Amino acid sequence: MKLVFEKSIPHRRAVRTVESDVPETINIEKSLLRDKCPNLPELSELDVVRHFTELSRMNFGVDTNFYPLGSCTMKYNPKVTERIASYPGFAHLHPLLPQLRMGGMLTQGALGVIYEMDMFLRETTGMDGFTMQPMAGAHGELTGIMIIAAYHKDKGNKKKTILIPDSAHGTNPASAAIAGYDVIAVPSNDEGVMDVDTLKAYINDEVAGLMLTCPNTLGLFNPHIKEICDLIHSVDGLVYYDGANLNAIVGKARPGDFGFDVVHLNLHKTFATPHGGGGPGAGPVGVKQKLVDYLPISVVVKRNDGTYALDYDRPKSIGYMAPFYGNFGVVLKAYVYALMLGKEGLKRVAENAVLNANYIRAKLNDHYTPAVDKVCMHECVFSPTQKMLDNDTHAFDIAKALIDAGFHPPTVYFPTIVKEALMIEPTECESKETLDAFIDAMIEIAKTAEAKLHAFSNAPVSTPVSRPNETAAAKNLNIACL
Ligand SMILES: *Cc1c(COP(=O)(O)O)cnc(C)c1O
Repeated sequence: MKLVFEKSIPHRRAVRTVESDVPETINIEKSLLRDKCPNLPELSELDVVRHFTELSRMNFGVDTNFYPLGSCTMKYNPKVTERIASYPGFAHLHPLLPQLRMGGMLTQGALGVIYEMDMFLRETTGMDGFTMQPMAGAHGELTGIMIIAAYHKDKGNKKKTILIPDSAHGTNPASAAIAGYDVIAVPSNDEGVMDVDTLKAYINDEVAGLMLTCPNTLGLFNPHIKEICDLIHSVDGLVYYDGANLNAIVGKARPGDFGFDVVHLNLHKTFATPHGGGGPGAGPVGVKQKLVDYLPISVVVKRNDGTYALDYDRPKSIGYMAPFYGNFGVVLKAYVYALMLGKEGLKRVAENAVLNANYIRAKLNDHYTPAVDKVCMHECVFSPTQKMLDNDTHAFDIAKALIDAGFHPPTVYFPTIVKEALMIEPTECESKETLDAFIDAMIEIAKTAEAKLHAFSNAPVSTPVSRPNETAAAKNLNIACL
């Protein structure tokens, strides 16, 4: 496919505007003005529309295909939330509009959304205060760990380490390290979770806290949560709940009730915004009362007269984590989603997420090697069977074969504690027909892979790009090679 620049024809235009008859008044210094036109493609309107439509058809996305990308899945992204977030009254708000006085009427609605979202998330997680600022899950983790660090500093605690089970999401150790802590990995047991006896050996006065991805990357809920929280608290450590995939427990259980002190959620996974592609996200962080003072500034508060305002007067705050209020549009979409589903709807999210994952798990159990052979939460992890591996078909080949069958691959080679991992998350919103079609494709692939050598070494064959050298592609990007 040609680049849009290659399709350019000099002087071709999509729109012709009339010559301006107003004298030019440019207050920009002459030396800063360009003397040549920028090198932009020159095309007709049809050329532009066709170019981008063609590009979009080369894409493999949640609007075209089932997308069981474990952990980082495209969970439910209703279009109505996008529509409401694009209302001009929200989308065109300037973040520097005054809160009250002149422009006050304009900002009260947006401030109200942030405030109400804070209340909703407190209720959902059992926490006492939230910030909406973090712009991603990992950014929320960093914010949460900085809050933990501020707490210890304030108390004069000399803490050095953050404990993280080896079944955690990969961003957890990175965030703790960026916040200045030494990271210690705690191994999981044969059941796929961190157990209390193992953890005991790692407890000492230097422990600032523990980060727990829960359910973990094997899709397993840790049954020892209460004891784990108590152990960490016994050395004045704090316990962090990575709730990126809250769809596993939303409406059913609250991290605040288990004993967690800090939690982050990925609104761009569980609450309506698509995840992936580096698009805007939101990783709100919630904390228990003893940490509320450290939350980033500003915080939306409700005055006695019912109006909303931004509170900057928080001397213990860790400061700004993002410009203004984070990705407000993502928070707004999550708010609409929460209102749409309500308490009962959100419970069904968790029920369906877990049911769908276990349906796939049970149907594939005889065809692939399960990482842990027991009931899972929102996702399940398999590996190719020994026979497939003997035939030189690996997780990577199975992922590529799925593309030809019309499915986005699951997450592969993660979690790292499982060899040849295929991490499947169907999400709460897929129909039984879609799940069955996926299961059939997986079984078909398994049969072929067990029957012959190198079964899918050329897959995918149905896509514009087949098997690029991924290392070279990342290091030596050449977008013209399409
Ligand atoms: C996706 C994910 C994260 C990181 O979120 P980003 O928005 O990608 O930074 C953290 N923890 C878990 C468990 C996740 O699934």
